[in-house]
Amino acid sequence: MDALSLFGSGAASRPAYDCRVAKRDYYDVLGVGRGAAPDEIKKIYRKLARKFHPDVNPGDKAAQKRFQEIQEAYDVLRDDEKRRAYDRFGHAGARMEEPGDSGIPFDFQGFGGGSGGGFADFSSVFGDLFGGAGGPGGERFGRAAPADTRSSMEVPFRTAIFGGTLQLQTTRRSVCADCGGRGQKGRAPCPTCRGQGRIASLEKLRVKVPAGMREGGTIRLAGKGDTGPDGRPGDLYVTIHVQPHPYFERRDSDIMAVVPITIREAYSGGDVLVPTIHGPVQARVPPGTQGGQKFRLRGKGVHDPRSGSTGDHVYTVRVVVPTNETPAGREAAALFDSLYAGDPRKDLKDVKA
Ligand SMILES: [Zn+2]
Repeated sequence: MDALSLFGSGAASRPAYDCRVAKRDYYDVLGVGRGAAPDEIKKIYRKLARKFHPDVNPGDKAAQKRFQEIQEAYDVLRDDEKRRAYDRFGHAGARMEEPGDSGIPFDFQGFGGGSGGGFADFSSVFGDLFGGAGGPGGERFGRAAPADTRSSMEVPFRTAIFGGTLQLQTTRRSVCADCGGRGQKGRAPCPTCRGQGRIASLEKLRVKVPAGMREGGTIRLAGKGDTGPDGRPGDLYVTIHVQPHPYFERRDSDIMAVVPITIREAYSGGDVLVPTIHGPVQARVPPGTQGGQKFRLRGKGVHDPRSGSTGDHVYTVRVVVPTNETPAGREAAALFDSLYAGDPRKDLKDVKA
């Protein structure tokens, strides 16, 4: 389900040549300047992604659209090379590198081979930029180089933890059989590859994401790279970017979260239902719990198949104070005030600037 909403439906439902000019500037989408540092972009992205995440805005179409827009903008701006291409060529630049969101239907095969029109020009532009449009790993053609290619993929938070299968569209290049990769037929440019020496085709791949996948991790798809001059296919290396969750935050194998509690629960203790990635867990808040105190639910974090260990669910309690002020409330608050053993800020008296 996640795979479809992420990669499938978007591209398939769009027209072949996506000319919706109304596409917003990626920097505007995130509300950052063109010179924004990667850290700043990441920070703002996280904030926006939480705010507009479909899970926190159920049924809100506008928020959903905004969320997709934010994802798309971030996917380009966080990647040095995609960002440079975008700065130089605008949305066309970002699209060429990531055919998964290009608006070109995936059954559109061999776009160097005739029906592709202007795309041959595109690929030569991006060949210079990326060393072969397959990404930084794709080598320029003609050299006896490995045909390994690179791509990247957004993985939903949950899929990264529990594993799953996603779809990825990728551009694969192979030697033009007509001219043997020379790009020339006699003195004229080869009509089949339009002088490129290679044929590019879009391919839809199923990517098995193993459980316990981390941000920045790589999945290798053997034999799914370009076809080298020797006729052997290289491998495709897919870098994983884990989408943030609106509530959980993953830190290695631990999951961090905040649990609001009432003043009574903090003072007298109580049972609270704590959401974890494995479902809600009944947990006990001990009497005298302070706001900001951290608790650990062992083994309720992420399982790492490599080490065989499972992380914890770590939650920080936040004491929520009622905001509707009433005389009875003021009386109860005054009563609480009288219960402190001393000045709760006494340690602050020695603090010097
Ligand atoms: Zn050719």
